[in-house]
Amino acid sequence: MLSCVPVTSVSSLAEAFALLADRPRGLRVLAGGTDFLAQVNAGVGLERIGHVLDISRVGELRFTRLSGGLLAAGALATFTDLARSAPVRQALPALAQVAREIGARAIQNRGTLGGNACNASPAGDTLPILVAAGATFVLGGPRGERRLPAEEFFLAYRKTALAADELLLRAEIPALAPGERLAYRKVGTRAAQSIARAFVAVRAAAAGGRCSGVRIAAGCVAPVPMRCRAAEAAVEGRALEPALFEAARGAIEGEIRPITDLRATAEWRRRVTGNVLVRLLEGLAGPPRSGEDS
Ligand SMILES: Cc1cc2nc3c(=O)[nH]c(=O)nc-3n(C[C@H](O)[C@H](O)[C@H](O)COP(=O)(O)OP(=O)(O)OC[C@H]3O[C@@H](n4cnc5c(N)ncnc54)[C@H](O)[C@@H]3O)c2cc1C
Repeated sequence: MLSCVPVTSVSSLAEAFALLADRPRGLRVLAGGTDFLAQVNAGVGLERIGHVLDISRVGELRFTRLSGGLLAAGALATFTDLARSAPVRQALPALAQVAREIGARAIQNRGTLGGNACNASPAGDTLPILVAAGATFVLGGPRGERRLPAEEFFLAYRKTALAADELLLRAEIPALAPGERLAYRKVGTRAAQSIARAFVAVRAAAAGGRCSGVRIAAGCVAPVPMRCRAAEAAVEGRALEPALFEAARGAIEGEIRPITDLRATAEWRRRVTGNVLVRLLEGLAGPPRSGEDS
């Protein structure tokens, strides 16, 4: 279907940036291809594709490392890489865990962290975790690098802050400090191998029965993966008790903007997102469970 479109395969960032500097018309980046090629097969946006830049062999973008309390994951780190990575499992186990729940093994072997972010689906599984974790995205191209908080990367439905001559290079994430946790729940038709219908992630420290440093993000409830600041404000510094859980539920249900689609109704998403947040906050008061970091 793309037989008339030139494809340039590069094996280094320098080669990729050289092509980006020429700004070929209709340039599309190809990483693992699990979203892009599915869209091509479905004929979505074919007329806008003028040139394909295949970065899948750029080894500089395929890494994970932990240094000075900062976890860095290259854009081409696959879900299998994330699930197996010692730095990820140490600094942010929830990211390794969610990578094991994405698609089936073939998707986990091809699909990348950068592709999940740049596809910018509100149902992308790593995205609420990256937003709640406080990730910074590093974008780069022939004009140099710039950094954006993850939540500012997503501008609108499937629209990102990437300029035409930029790639997503890596995500940098502050490692969990002692006493901090990042807990999430993905609600789909099954626990694994299904697209999320609701998704909530919470990063917080719980000490003396109170939460601090709270960051909350939700998926599937707005055109973009959403940072839930009203819910954060309802929880920050407050005692982990039933009144707080209900205040948090009210806050998140009030700020999300779900729609009805084939997978769920807006009302179902609103209710489930509130319920999931309450469960996660209740969990913060107890010992870590599956899907939680400590
Ligand atoms: C059967 C199936 C099951 C799936 N299950 C899930 C699931 O459970 N959860 C989930 O979240 N997703 C799921 N997906 C979606 C998909 O696998 C992920 O979104 C994956 O992370 C995409 O990564 P990729 O490397 O394949 O991206 P690609 O398809 O190569 O690219 C996706 C988009 O990002 C752009 N892009 C990619 N990398 C960069 C970069 N570094 N810089 C700039 N632009 C870039 C591309 O131009 C394209 O627009 C599924 C897909 C399939 C086909």
